[in-house]
Amino acid sequence: MRLHIDWTRCEGRGLCAELLPELLDQDRWGYPLPRDASRQPPVPEPLARHASRAVQQCPRLAIRLLK
Ligand code: SF4
Repeated sequence: MRLHIDWTRCEGRGLCAELLPELLDQDRWGYPLPRDASRQPPVPEPLARHASRAVQQCPRLAIRLLK
């Protein structure tokens, strides 16, 4: 799975980076920054549940998982 971020929807604040710190850092405004600097960071299996939770809790529906 990969994590896709829709930048046209994201409004920062960093909730996803707080829920998925292993994959996402955040800039000074709270916009998520994939730690591997890729556009769609791969989600290791052990983090799949955390990633799903981040997707469900994003208030802007700006992130999703791609299989
Ligand atoms: S939780 Fe959603 S809106 Fe908030 S920073 Fe992450 S992607 Fe953007």
